[in-house]
Amino acid sequence: MGSTPDPIVRLLTEIVGREHVRTDAASFERYGQDALGIGHPPDLVVIPATTSEISAVARVCDEHRVPLVVRGAGTGYTGGAVPTRGGVVLSMERFNRILEVDEANLLAVVEPGVITADLQRAVERVGLFYPPDPASLEISSIGGNVAECAGGPRGFKYGTTRRYVLALEVVLPGGEVLELGSKAVKNVVGYDVLQLLIGSEGTLAIITKITLRLIPRPPARATLRATFADVQAAVDAVTALIRRRVVAATLELIDAESLEAVAEHLGEPIAPPGTGAMLIVEADGPGAAVDAEIEQAAHACREAGATAVTLAAGDEERERLWSARRLVSLALRATGLQKINHDVVVPRGRIPELFGIVETLRGQFGLRIAAFGHAGDGNIHVNLLVTPGDAGERARARTAERQLFEQVVALEGSISGEHGIGFAKAPYIGIELSPDEIALMKRIKQAFDPHGILNPGKIFP
Ligand SMILES: Cc1cc2nc3c(=O)[nH]c(=O)nc-3n(C[C@H](O)[C@H](O)[C@H](O)COP(=O)(O)OP(=O)(O)OC[C@H]3O[C@@H](n4cnc5c(N)ncnc54)[C@H](O)[C@@H]3O)c2cc1C
Repeated sequence: MGSTPDPIVRLLTEIVGREHVRTDAASFERYGQDALGIGHPPDLVVIPATTSEISAVARVCDEHRVPLVVRGAGTGYTGGAVPTRGGVVLSMERFNRILEVDEANLLAVVEPGVITADLQRAVERVGLFYPPDPASLEISSIGGNVAECAGGPRGFKYGTTRRYVLALEVVLPGGEVLELGSKAVKNVVGYDVLQLLIGSEGTLAIITKITLRLIPRPPARATLRATFADVQAAVDAVTALIRRRVVAATLELIDAESLEAVAEHLGEPIAPPGTGAMLIVEADGPGAAVDAEIEQAAHACREAGATAVTLAAGDEERERLWSARRLVSLALRATGLQKINHDVVVPRGRIPELFGIVETLRGQFGLRIAAFGHAGDGNIHVNLLVTPGDAGERARARTAERQLFEQVVALEGSISGEHGIGFAKAPYIGIELSPDEIALMKRIKQAFDPHGILNPGKIFP
């Protein structure tokens, strides 16, 4: 056993039951990393099933100063769900029930381990809609989405997870159980602690129940694919669309490097040869409005010099397009190159400058960089691709990464729009946040977690 003393292991085992404790090597490996692929193994994994078990686990860890790391589905990109120095991983995988879909009040009550796409399918069956759609939606959990404030392609029109959380049940590190927010859609009583917890990356409290706002499912939708000779033309189309006041449901851009990786992964091209960038534009809403929006989008793309503009013929073709888009991240990883993955965001009007920065970094550091993502939000996944074992290239990528962050902040943007900080980006938060902001955040952390047991080593360097 690692740094968690045996008597504590015994106490925790009594709380959740022996069959819900993991101490084997395979579990240490599995729970010792997330999608970032780096981490530290836990000393113990506990898999509770009730809020009172979680409260008891937290109390024991707090009393004995044992690090406690909450884990959703482990798809995070910044090491958020993995220990930095042993301790206990608390997995939410048994909290996997949709407790209620309330059609009268347009809301759903779920346990945090529910997989995002399962919730979406469940509410769509009754004509409702849960918009947040991270590309990981088939594998990530709602709890992880709330803790990271996940976004996705639909963020442009519908906003991110934050906008859909009405209430939370949470456990503080000392074991107290709090009910924050309510089923009502308005609430201005006291500080908005609920919103503070969204995006808090498991450092302030353990989320045990979530009430989510739903909206009516849009009656119609249409999806358009436009290809361009280069990224600049695609970016021009995005700018033109925004100028035309088109708020499409999604406005996704995929560059040539990313398109090639997906084609290689699938064994077939997803765009004609010579394509430098592709846009996926989706409109949803009442049928007539969808037709008008898609028409406008097609115009804007042609004006910007699109080489082809095609409308997805039906649900099957639309799904094929979206699965290709969702594959980009995995396909880049499958190239065998090491992927230093960033999710920088700039004000929408500055996207052309962001792509200019990426181009400059490519030339200056001789790096392969794949860029794709939510162009409508100004949120672009910039992936620096490094040959494994090439220390020189890796060092160049690290310098390029710092320059990217500095320049994004200079464009009034942010170093992370979706993936959070975890431990991977902790060394860089000073580029964006002032010392006073960091000091205030540390005082907030201290108020929630005076003994610093919850997810230590995250967010702050
Ligand atoms: C292929 C791929 C595509 C992706 N695409 C997107 C995308 O489009 N948009 C996007 O935003 N992200 C994306 N991600 C990143 C990731 O899926 C999201 O950050 C997601 O929200 C993480 O959910 P999870 O359940 O896997 O959480 P985990 O990785 O398990 O945990 C993430 C953080 O949340 C905390 N946490 C988890 N559950 C709880 C809880 N119940 N209470 C308190 N804290 C908790 C953890 O401690 C950790 O800090 C992608 C990842 C992959 C692998």
